[in-house]
Amino acid sequence: MKIICIGRNYVDHAKELNNPVPKEPLVFMKPPSALLVNNKPLYFPEFTKDLHYELEVVVKIAKNGRHVQKEFAGDYIDEVALGIDFTARDIQEKCKQKGHPWEIAKGFDGSAVLSPFVSLEKVNRNAIEFELKKNGERVQFGNTSDMIFSFEAIIVYVSQFFKLQMGDLIYTGTPEGVGPVQIGDRLEGFLYTQDKVEHLLTCEIK
Ligand code: MG
Repeated sequence: MKIICIGRNYVDHAKELNNPVPKEPLVFMKPPSALLVNNKPLYFPEFTKDLHYELEVVVKIAKNGRHVQKEFAGDYIDEVALGIDFTARDIQEKCKQKGHPWEIAKGFDGSAVLSPFVSLEKVNRNAIEFELKKNGERVQFGNTSDMIFSFEAIIVYVSQFFKLQMGDLIYTGTPEGVGPVQIGDRLEGFLYTQDKVEHLLTCEIK
């Protein structure tokens, strides 16, 4: 199982970190050991002083494929979840300055929080609204219609390089409002379905 992540997929988030808006999807991966499920807490890693949340919509790959064509890309997903792409921002900055890969800043244990999945039929597929609260206050609110690269565009792009396999996850990028967490903080993620707001995940920092 692969965890594929897309960076800078919302214009306002790219700008808030002073990054250029990409012309092609920015792709990185996390190892399966990064997964954190069942609302387990994240223990603040010792190697960072600047741990950031990034709430993202996650799609699960429903069938195997490579070199997926645009008109079929939608067939490769039938469920979505919420995820937090935890990032050691200070380590990532050092990696960026040196031109090094990001894995140690992005792929550490517990850095891929994942909620239960919701059928795509329950949401507004092309405009999914989602929200993150920190200690009860909204810090992020996104709509997937603002993504630079759609779910389908990401699948087409990524499958040129990597065979997509059933069960692979794609973290599709975070909207603006990323920020730091401290020990004791409580993060809660909400997904807006067609008939209600689903409280899909909770993550406490310990
Ligand atoms: Mg991210």
